[in-house]
Amino acid sequence: MHMTEKEIVTSFRQAKNRERQVAILAQLNACTTGDIVEVLLKNGFTPKDIPGRYRKGGKRDRKAYRKEHQVPPPKRDTKTGKMVCAECGILFDGKCNAVFCAACGQRRREKWEKERRQREREQRAAERAASGKKCADCGAPLKSKLYTYCADCATKRKRESQRRSKERKKG
Ligand SMILES: [Zn+2]
Ligand SMILES: [Zn+2]
Repeated sequence: MHMTEKEIVTSFRQAKNRERQVAILAQLNACTTGDIVEVLLKNGFTPKDIPGRYRKGGKRDRKAYRKEHQVPPPKRDTKTGKMVCAECGILFDGKCNAVFCAACGQRRREKWEKERRQREREQRAAERAASGKKCADCGAPLKSKLYTYCADCATKRKRESQRRSKERKKG
């Protein structure tokens, strides 16, 4: 590996074409795409985030895909020979393995995409919290690297030093 795991993760996350990026990263690091996938999975990505063809079993693993995305088995209307959409129930022309009509399929894809982005946002926030500077007193994550203490501890310390200087004056 020529890149650190962190660099690999960042580069994958920011890539427009993630499927291609896995191959590019493998080439850059003179390793296999499997090694790259391993690094990604080790660093917070779930199998869902891995492009289909690099996932275990690949795209052909339809059964696993259906289970993961909660896809019911395809249903054909025996009278018309058309497929029945599992979501809205309309009859539509589709291949024998089609489960959803075009509109429902689109809606589902958008939903998954949205959930994927949400998951990644949460993961980035967690990473920021983990890698950022922490309060020297209580260890709470700080909003800025310029701070040494969190707001609570800073106030506490200020009060403490004011109290001490008062005592010195008195004494
Ligand atoms: Zn439908
Ligand atoms: Zn603190």
